[in-house]
Amino acid sequence: MNGRIQRLAVVGMGTLGVQIALMAAHYGYEVKAFDPDEKSFERVLKLIQARIGNAGRKTLPPFESLEKSAAMIHRCAKVEEAVADADLVIEAVPEKLDLKRKIFQELDRLAPKHAILATNSSSIPISKIESATNRPEKCLNIHFYSPDLGRNIVDIMGGSKTSEETMRAGKRWIRSVGCVPLPVKKELLGFCFNRIWRAIKRESLHMWAGGHVDFKDIDRGYMIWNGVSQGPFALMDQVGLDVVYGIEMVYYNESKDPKDFPPEALKNMIDRNELGVKTGKGFYTYPNPEYKDPQKIA
Ligand code: NAD
Repeated sequence: MNGRIQRLAVVGMGTLGVQIALMAAHYGYEVKAFDPDEKSFERVLKLIQARIGNAGRKTLPPFESLEKSAAMIHRCAKVEEAVADADLVIEAVPEKLDLKRKIFQELDRLAPKHAILATNSSSIPISKIESATNRPEKCLNIHFYSPDLGRNIVDIMGGSKTSEETMRAGKRWIRSVGCVPLPVKKELLGFCFNRIWRAIKRESLHMWAGGHVDFKDIDRGYMIWNGVSQGPFALMDQVGLDVVYGIEMVYYNESKDPKDFPPEALKNMIDRNELGVKTGKGFYTYPNPEYKDPQKIA
């Protein structure tokens, strides 16, 4: 590798894995990808295209070159094929510690000795995964943001033994795919910006669930104040309310502070399969959520 990352493998072709692979391919990396569900890549790509197609906003890669970037990604039938010559492997499988540890153990066995192993986990620090490998000095959190290629910031955090060289290589690589790295100097649940976003989510959820304010007014305030097109509830719908709930539980399990426990009203929505964009109903109703109507915002 000579300190330079040239070949990327992405393990897990879901919402985030596909976006990471597309960005890297767009910036000229040789990208190999693996997912046991062979149809996942096409399915997620279509969803991304449908969502950003009409939005007219800037994305990485640009909407027009998505097909081209997708065609450059080499999809592999086996994980060993995907990682055999990788300089960097990014794991983007579901948010389950046991699964991630199992995959890291496998990656450690299958990837070249020099390869950096990173997790895209939203909440699990690499220090809880690194011991599944024999190369903790080459393990990292590299946390990309959803949704849909539009947010070009990436949290980066080392574990208990991550070397300076690995952090440097990670930061350089993040910049090389058009993103700004946000390094964490000392381990912190939620990393850098993701923790800020989580604080906004928690506050918004409790204000709504306590019956203090209408969620649409929280979104209105947020959108107008920040000059952006989505507020916290629209964003949570996009991420998936089941995913949001899971992340809140990670924070609660860490702190055991009742204030961190996600509201019952959120759990009730999940039980009704109101998961957000992916089920057509969450806080808003899709495909034409109210927050997109300027008349209803002002
Ligand atoms: P997802 O459910 O959309 O995709 C996960 C993919 O992993 C699926 O395609 C699944 O088939 C695949 N998979 C399952 N077992 C596997 C295995 N053994 N080997 C390879 N692939 C396997 O999940 P996602 O939303 O893309 O999240 C992936 C990771 O990214 C999670 O750790 C999550 O916390 C993190 N993340 C998610 C978001 C988000 O907004 N969705 C944002 C940032 C980070």
